[in-house]
Amino acid sequence: MAVPDDVAEAIRTLIRWSGDDPSREGLIDTPKRVARAWKEYCRGYAEDPAYHLSRIFHEVGGYDEIVLLKDIPFQSHCEHHMAPITGHAHIAYLPGDYVVGISKLARVLHAFAQRLQVQERLTAEVADCIWENLKPQGVAVVIEATHGCMTGRGVRTPGVIMKTSRMMGAFRDDEKSRKEVLKLMGV
Ligand SMILES: [Zn+2]
Repeated sequence: MAVPDDVAEAIRTLIRWSGDDPSREGLIDTPKRVARAWKEYCRGYAEDPAYHLSRIFHEVGGYDEIVLLKDIPFQSHCEHHMAPITGHAHIAYLPGDYVVGISKLARVLHAFAQRLQVQERLTAEVADCIWENLKPQGVAVVIEATHGCMTGRGVRTPGVIMKTSRMMGAFRDDEKSRKEVLKLMGV
């Protein structure tokens, strides 16, 4: 992938600003590498997350219990510092008339995560996308993540985990369903 000159120059400027010399040997090819890496970190912009939910199955064999994908590792970047957000997501839904291939839930997560994000919005976007496209009876998304902008700078508190959740439909309205899904998630 060709890296435009102005992009490479911006990264050289950042290296200089950080206190190093972008023309020294070890840093010569760094601007191109960084530019390509950022295209990869942010490849979600080139994706329509809802696309992953377009292939649905009507034959659910009478299954009407919770479908849960647990401990999905993901990486994102915070929009305030462009620092890494690293964590796990748990995504559950209570099927209505349709189900999807289980890996599609992870694809929806990654399509939103691979953008500049805040964890709260990432959580809401994943839940809303499943809610709107799969028309389930309930959706629950819980995300647990550490933020590079907290561990490596600022208050420098490694190990702190931020937890966010969004409950919709039966998981929001019915106490028993919410307890059940949270227990399955182990959060
Ligand atoms: Zn941040």
